[in-house]
Amino acid sequence: MTYVIDFLEGSKEQGDLLGGKGANLAEMTKLKLPVPTGFTITTTACLDYLEKKENVSTKLNEEIREHVLSMEKRTKKIFGDPLDPLLVSVRSGSKFSMPGMMDTILNLGLNDETVLGLAEKSGDDRFAYDCYRRLLQMFGDVVCGIDKNRFEEQLDFYKSKNKYLLDTEMQAEDWQELVAVYKDIFLEVTHQAFPQDPYEQLTLAVEAVFRSWNNRRAITYRRLHDISDTLGTAVNIQEMVFGNFGADSGTGVAFTRNPATGDKGIFGEFLLNAQGEDVVAGIRTPQPISELNVLMPEVYQEFLRLSHLLESHYKDMQDIEFTIENRKLYLLQTRNGKRTAKSAFKVCIQLVEEGIISKKEAIQRINPTIVTQLLHPVFEPDQLNHAELFAKGLPASPGAASGKIYFTAEQAKKASELGEKVILIRQETSPEDIEGMVVSEAIVTSRGGMTSHAAVVARGMGVCCVAGCEDIYVDEFLEQATAGDITLHQGDIISVDGTTGTIYLGSIPYVEGDEWQLLETITDWAKEEASIGVKANAETPKDIKTALKLGAQGIGLARTEHMFFGEERIFEMRKMILAENEESLIAPLSLLKEFQKDDFRTMFTLLKGKECTIRLLDPPLHEFLPQTEEEIIHLANATQRTVAEIKHRIEELHEQNPMLGHRGCRLAVTTPEIYEMQVAAIIESAIEVAQKAKDLRIVPEIMIPLIGSQEEMHWLRERLVQAIQKIFDEKKQTISYKIGTMLEIPRACLTAEKIATVADFFSFGTNDLTQLTYGFSRDDSVKFIGAYQEKQLLKEDPFQHIDEEGVGALMKIAVDKIRSVDPTIKIGVCGEVGGDPQSIRFLKKIGVDYISCSPYRIPSAILTIAQEQ
Ligand code: PEP
Ligand code: MG
Repeated sequence: MTYVIDFLEGSKEQGDLLGGKGANLAEMTKLKLPVPTGFTITTTACLDYLEKKENVSTKLNEEIREHVLSMEKRTKKIFGDPLDPLLVSVRSGSKFSMPGMMDTILNLGLNDETVLGLAEKSGDDRFAYDCYRRLLQMFGDVVCGIDKNRFEEQLDFYKSKNKYLLDTEMQAEDWQELVAVYKDIFLEVTHQAFPQDPYEQLTLAVEAVFRSWNNRRAITYRRLHDISDTLGTAVNIQEMVFGNFGADSGTGVAFTRNPATGDKGIFGEFLLNAQGEDVVAGIRTPQPISELNVLMPEVYQEFLRLSHLLESHYKDMQDIEFTIENRKLYLLQTRNGKRTAKSAFKVCIQLVEEGIISKKEAIQRINPTIVTQLLHPVFEPDQLNHAELFAKGLPASPGAASGKIYFTAEQAKKASELGEKVILIRQETSPEDIEGMVVSEAIVTSRGGMTSHAAVVARGMGVCCVAGCEDIYVDEFLEQATAGDITLHQGDIISVDGTTGTIYLGSIPYVEGDEWQLLETITDWAKEEASIGVKANAETPKDIKTALKLGAQGIGLARTEHMFFGEERIFEMRKMILAENEESLIAPLSLLKEFQKDDFRTMFTLLKGKECTIRLLDPPLHEFLPQTEEEIIHLANATQRTVAEIKHRIEELHEQNPMLGHRGCRLAVTTPEIYEMQVAAIIESAIEVAQKAKDLRIVPEIMIPLIGSQEEMHWLRERLVQAIQKIFDEKKQTISYKIGTMLEIPRACLTAEKIATVADFFSFGTNDLTQLTYGFSRDDSVKFIGAYQEKQLLKEDPFQHIDEEGVGALMKIAVDKIRSVDPTIKIGVCGEVGGDPQSIRFLKKIGVDYISCSPYRIPSAILTIAQEQ
């Protein structure tokens, strides 16, 4: 097997081996697009190198030489030729794009001799030495680990000594002098001279790029984006083309559609007389691509033509890097563009409308985890009228956030660990800042454009960002930001509007995002493909309305205890709990029944006959008990008892371990009146609503929590059936209903075939089931789960993603047992993992009929299911 593949030999399907960049460079070469010639060193070479396999370097160097020779033939230039040197770029490129996370070296092949050749051949000494100093800087940083600032400091010092403001004021001799200074830095730090042999440079550079796969920021990025550590990176070696070759040259990045809004039309930026990294690094603020049409119309038109061609070829919005050398356009990279959720949805809808992809393909394109970003917050419009403007910049990533400002990633991280809402504000960000960016509510930079590091990374994470905010002078050393006559310091509060690029002083209330229309279109398409149902965990009218709007087919879990927390209701609830005999239960129960009936009438009316699973009272009673002295006194007065009596009763109710104690169906075994009241409220309100709306068929599903055995279920079911029959007799009317149970107790899973004989339906309560299977308290395990993950004793938090091996295995047993006695019985899932795309894939596989999750997770759940056909 070879380690090196020429651009002429590869194709876009080979992302695993060639990395995304390499595969697409090969594809563009195949399409005969203007791509500088080159080759890719495969990810296998990287992995073999990192695993220290025998002879990797020898074999690799031989192959590299062979391919350099063939590049020499094609370019008619020689690597290391002092008269007309072939120069190359060395770029990393893994299967999944990891912007700026790994390393790039440009102008490789320059040395003290070849720089003279380049100067002579180009007729531009300034250009040649600028290239050389860039190589020294990048090589120093990437290969030798020399702090970039060592070079930057010298450049700044040199410029200020000569009273230059911009790099463009540096003359040939200036760069030449700086090259000498940079070489001294090499000697001082590494105790070795900068390697003059181009092949040695190349070997060292390739190996350094391999190693960069395991640098800290790359590892963090992979963790965040769920990218496997075992993929490795490819390395692309490509003939240099020069965007820093004077005013007729430049370099830029453009998207074929707007990556922030999804609007049609080319969107991008370029810098004249600059080399690749200048744009992405955000050091200079670039010009919009439309201005290229004014400066070099023929190049602009050619770029438009090629970008259309690439978009149709890849059938997706492309993110293209280009360089112009003396008015000749070169393409250096194309990839499917990273985009905001809004843009992802809009582009998919456009591509379907334009007939480029089908609805099915559109559904497959959208990562379910980005859906929530569509519902980004925006500041309350009324409040904005009074808000005090601080500065304006580029609307780099949409959203709205308020928080305290921090000037370094490290401080932002610390503050966020203390629970603060933080906003990271910097001149520009770099991959080193990633950990601080992740925890920030918003990111602000004073430099850099829409494709700068800050902008790209923030959009990817769905974090609000204003970039290139040149109104602000950010002094990272003094930790202050000044715009006009206002100076802010660390900890001051600002509000950032990433949709408009505006920054305000102080905190501003926000409302949720409003891209429902886009969401609805795709969710409707996805529903047609979804093979299992998606319901909502909701009980308040607001949540039920949201759930229905977002595509829920019904309610899979209405937690009735949530209905008792209102001030008036909790008071009656407390009276009920503290009742010492049946008689004193009657009054509070009948009041509570009226409250419940009100709620259920609203629910049934909103649901218009859609499925509705109502769970009877579940939590430990202590959750409802009075806590403060004031509450106890109030309750004592209202029940004509003494404070001491109330306290005594509270003590009597005390449990060592309430989560495993007197809760769920156990409450009804000791006090059946509670469930009987709830069931009566459900059935009576269902009859009333159905009566009003004649054509409505309401079949309430009554769900009993925490069942552990068939006997328990049977006994309770009998009681509830009797209570319901009593209502039917009184009202001389009947309706259909179902009585089912949750599967939350491991024993219930293991005896599910027995319970199935007395239950009409099941729903897995994976929150409790995980707690009881792992023996991890769902309330307290946050204290140690992090440590387990850090020590790799636990891959994921089982309360967020289903533990397939343990909890999942138990669920599978239960499903199989239930199906063995009744293949048609409905089985759902209503624990938290029911809304988690990764878990949904597993749940679908074990054969559940539906999942139920919180309203905002419904669209992503529908999409996930539609994608898993
Ligand atoms: C569960 O245990 O998964 C469940 C849905 O019930 P709750 O979270 O209310 O205990
Ligand atoms: Mg539960």
